[in-house]
Amino acid sequence: MGTPLLQINNLTVSFENENNSFTAVKNLNLSVCRGEIRALVGESGSGKSVTSMSILQLIPSPPASYKNGSILFYNTPDNCINLLKASSSEIESIRGRSIAMIFQEPMTALNPVLTCGDQMIETIMLHQQLSKKGATKEAIRLFTSVKINDPEKAINKYPHELSGGQKQRVMIAMAMSGKPDLLICDEPTTALDVQVQKSILILLKELQQETGMGILFITHDLNVVASFADVVTVLYKGEVVEENSTKLLFEKPEHPYTKALLACRPGLYP
Ligand code: ADP
Ligand code: MG
Repeated sequence: MGTPLLQINNLTVSFENENNSFTAVKNLNLSVCRGEIRALVGESGSGKSVTSMSILQLIPSPPASYKNGSILFYNTPDNCINLLKASSSEIESIRGRSIAMIFQEPMTALNPVLTCGDQMIETIMLHQQLSKKGATKEAIRLFTSVKINDPEKAINKYPHELSGGQKQRVMIAMAMSGKPDLLICDEPTTALDVQVQKSILILLKELQQETGMGILFITHDLNVVASFADVVTVLYKGEVVEENSTKLLFEKPEHPYTKALLACRPGLYP
């Protein structure tokens, strides 16, 4: 066990209206250590995004209701904050800086009427005390670090002028600009073709190794994390059904659902 960074204990999330209540996540336990890549895997609707969005209070409550549980984020190895109970100003100071997020669809986070550079510069200036000139330099440095083609030209482009993979790299650069301790990736490669998907995973792993950040990587496709994650949590209908090191999970899956997920793609596993 490494040093804990994020520890979700008994998280239960329900959606309620006058007539009924639906529990999307049930007593979920999950942790991410410093320097660790944790995969959270489950089919569509299993509660992955509800879990990831709960970390930064991104689901309005109501309709979401949090009956029990805690989401502990360790600022330092011996000081933690319960994000479920944190004030909006506490969350604001953590979001983007200590914890950053990237999503499946970069266009939901990129502004179509601003150039990629302007958006990057804005984000950088939010996190770091830099002049516009300094922030521009930092934008180019970050674009280079995420291997965007021709960074000096890319900063003058609008998001629609970039391919899906390049847009996702802009998102990653923005997420990295706050130097996060934890990066949450909610299906960041799902919309990309296999080769691009692979190159994004390689990039994320490189960034993880350079910075020592922890990653919570969410996907419906267990195959994707085989050579990427250190540990895997399998979610089924809002409940954790299995958790193990990636190696053991692939070698000796215990739960029928995990076996079924593995059986979906025979031959692709190491
Ligand atoms: P996924 O694993 O595909 O990311 P989600 O976490 O988005 O799944 O959703 C889990 C379940 O919670 C789904 O049944 C979804 O319909 C339900 N759900 C998610 N958000 C809401 C909401 N705001 N109101 C009601 N139900 C929701
Ligand atoms: Mg989702």
